[in-house]
Amino acid sequence: MKKKILITGGAGFIGSHVVRRFVNNYPEYEILNLDKLTYAGNLANLTDIEHQPNYRFVKADITDAVAMSELFEQENFDAVIHLAAESHVDRSISDPTAFVMTNVIGTVNLLNAAREHWKGAYDLKRFYHVSTDEVYGALGETGMFTEATAYDPHSPYSASKASSDHFVRAYHDTYGLDVVISNCSNNYGSHHFPEKLIPLAINNIKNNQPVPVYGKGENVRDWLWVEDHARAIDVIFHQAKTGETYNIGGHNEWKNIDLIHLLCKIMDQKLGRNEGDSAKLISFVTDRAGHDLRYAIDSSKLQNVLNWVPSLQFEEGLAKTVDWYLENEEWLSNVTSGNYKAYYDTQYEGR
Ligand code: NAD
Repeated sequence: MKKKILITGGAGFIGSHVVRRFVNNYPEYEILNLDKLTYAGNLANLTDIEHQPNYRFVKADITDAVAMSELFEQENFDAVIHLAAESHVDRSISDPTAFVMTNVIGTVNLLNAAREHWKGAYDLKRFYHVSTDEVYGALGETGMFTEATAYDPHSPYSASKASSDHFVRAYHDTYGLDVVISNCSNNYGSHHFPEKLIPLAINNIKNNQPVPVYGKGENVRDWLWVEDHARAIDVIFHQAKTGETYNIGGHNEWKNIDLIHLLCKIMDQKLGRNEGDSAKLISFVTDRAGHDLRYAIDSSKLQNVLNWVPSLQFEEGLAKTVDWYLENEEWLSNVTSGNYKAYYDTQYEGR
């Protein structure tokens, strides 16, 4: 069936993998990638598919309610997959308002545009909201987040994502919009902006720079390969019942310090260094304020109901990720120098 799908945040890390997957796997769909191209958005993530006939890009800001309403009027979308967000916890601690604007107001603007322009067809059009496991708060040494876990966000980032999740559910309950939500654990893979733990560590190790690790590196995260997340989004988008929530995770918990040691070992091998050389760069820094100790996600609903399972072992995925960064030096240097951002500012100014 021909479908016109709006994917927001498609120039970002996860969004670019979702756009690529939908453009390649569903030639019968028309994909419109909407992105503001903040420091985290990068069209160089999509050079391999940008000329496909079923792909278009529009630079726009989801905090602009009028622009969102006009776009829905013009395009008559059949569905939305919403990933656009401010996504970095540390930035949310220094500037929470930007997170409220994009993650909360931006989401509500999209919901309002859908509510206004999809009238009479709410059961035929789907609003898929992509969210995070951080909305559930922190775990002790045991237990896992399920879809029934009460929300308990601690950082401004997770509070803004929790709020947006609530609005999405409220539009289902109040207006009958067909919504689905997924809450995923930490992603890793190619095209990840090097302010996040894994790409930051790869870049610093490569350049012989200190690798900062918060506190003593005791925090535990569950890591999932980004292409497995994109596949889960595909499955949930097509098969979930209306109003459903799915947790997505890798059943792959790592203490930050153990993960960094594994990464250092892989980097020693890839760069031909002596074993232990990269680990000398590890530098413990003052812990992040309100740092959640442990996240672990129970994705058995997704596995049992929709038959999704992660495809890649972590060690293999991490080695693949390191290879990608080492092979894409230009991407990395353009991202770290801000060259892409400066280029887009001149390309899209005033549009
Ligand atoms: P990212 O920061 O790499 O990408 C976000 C994208 O949104 C960027 O391209 C940016 O330009 C765009 N954007 C930001 N503000 C915008 C605005 N006002 N209007 C339009 N576009 C805007 O983030 P990511 O890691 O790819 O995360 C994507 C989504 O997945 C987010 O909603 C995030 O909460 C969620 N998520 C991320 C993870 C993870 O591990 N990275 C895990 C679970 C869920």
